[in-house]
Amino acid sequence: MKAAARLLILWTLAAAPLAPAKPNIVIITADDLGYGDLGCYGSPVIRTPHLDRMAAEGLRFTDFYSAAEVCTPSRAALLTGRYPLRSGMCGNERRVLFPGSKGGLPAGEITLAEALKEAGYATRHIGKWHLGHHSGSRPQEQGFEGFFGLPYSNDMDARAGLPKGATASADPPRDGWNVPLMRDGEIVERPADQTTLTRRYTEDAVKFIAEKKSGPFFLYLAHTFPHVPLFASPEFKGKSRAGIYGDTVEELDWSVGQVIAALRREGIAGNTLVFFTSDNGPWLVMEGQGGSAGPLRDGKGSTWEGGMRVPGIAWMPGRIAPGVSNSTAHAMDLMPTALAMAGLPLPAGVAIDGADLSPLLFDGKPLPERPFFYYRGDRIFACRLGEWKAHFQTQAGYGAMQDLQRHDPPLLYHLGHDPSEKRDVAAGHPEIVTKIRDAVKAHQESVVPGKPQL
Ligand code: MG
Repeated sequence: MKAAARLLILWTLAAAPLAPAKPNIVIITADDLGYGDLGCYGSPVIRTPHLDRMAAEGLRFTDFYSAAEVCTPSRAALLTGRYPLRSGMCGNERRVLFPGSKGGLPAGEITLAEALKEAGYATRHIGKWHLGHHSGSRPQEQGFEGFFGLPYSNDMDARAGLPKGATASADPPRDGWNVPLMRDGEIVERPADQTTLTRRYTEDAVKFIAEKKSGPFFLYLAHTFPHVPLFASPEFKGKSRAGIYGDTVEELDWSVGQVIAALRREGIAGNTLVFFTSDNGPWLVMEGQGGSAGPLRDGKGSTWEGGMRVPGIAWMPGRIAPGVSNSTAHAMDLMPTALAMAGLPLPAGVAIDGADLSPLLFDGKPLPERPFFYYRGDRIFACRLGEWKAHFQTQAGYGAMQDLQRHDPPLLYHLGHDPSEKRDVAAGHPEIVTKIRDAVKAHQESVVPGKPQL
């Protein structure tokens, strides 16, 4: 063999990667987006072509759940893989963090960002945090190298003299809320111009993807909308049949399209998992500014299906085959799934409630049956096992009907036959009720509650 040819072979061997590149992880969440608010989930009025295409190319879950019925606990659970009771990030009176709250995600909790960062991932959080704004709980102390967004909800920090009903107005005052927009720990704008948030979050995400394309990276893009007060940019305002609510969802859909286009442009779509979901169901009491849970009962704040069953779409072209899954899965599964994809172990000595979805995502294997617990604050209101769901307590999410009802025997619904939870069939299925009671008891005996943070 000629020397030049030998050199070429040696050079080729040296340049070949030793192991497949670690996959990039992108989690995109909407805030208060309902189960029925996307075209691919049956909305007849809101146009979501980019999410519809993502669902057509990826795996769309019919039975995907947020880990809680309101924002703060839901996000704590998504990033830790743990029911919020374990981290103390839930409450019965104060259900989320407020600007005056002293608590937050405890520094000792291990987030997905921390685990991935330690393994060499670039990490960035864009959008709404809502897991605490004091030392120890902030994005930069929970594994994110960069942060651009709001520390809490866009309806907090209301200005004095704000007219009653402004939050749920179709045209809320631009300067009605004094919410700060932050970049890496510094306030860059206050009040944040909310009409520009979706666009600026998107531009920041696309820039991060371009900068970190050599990978691996973890992007947690937590959109502010469609949480009220609702603001859309001029390009989207007044364009949807569903009013300003639909305008913000259509802009969010544009944003998802931009992120996916950036991944394709950089040639990394096939090595990037994108997961889209919502932090809880639609805020139905918002006088026409809340979304739709489709056929599901009630919405945000409740443990009826409409409060916690949300869109869930997984996309990774060439790895995830297009399809629809009826498996029960939830936001706490995302951390174990991402760690498994990165070849990393679960954090040692930590109780994790989620499961690795990889066998389902990549090989179409069904998940083993497991119970799912619907917490409201620190109490289990309901439990799902297979197609069956038992309610031990029920309460409307918000509004005048906040009367707590206890059920013994529990209400029992078959979610396959009755996804709207209308026909209680407990009397005919005592054995199912017993099985679910046993699952709840076993779970409760295993859970060590964290120090309450709310
Ligand atoms: Mg929310």
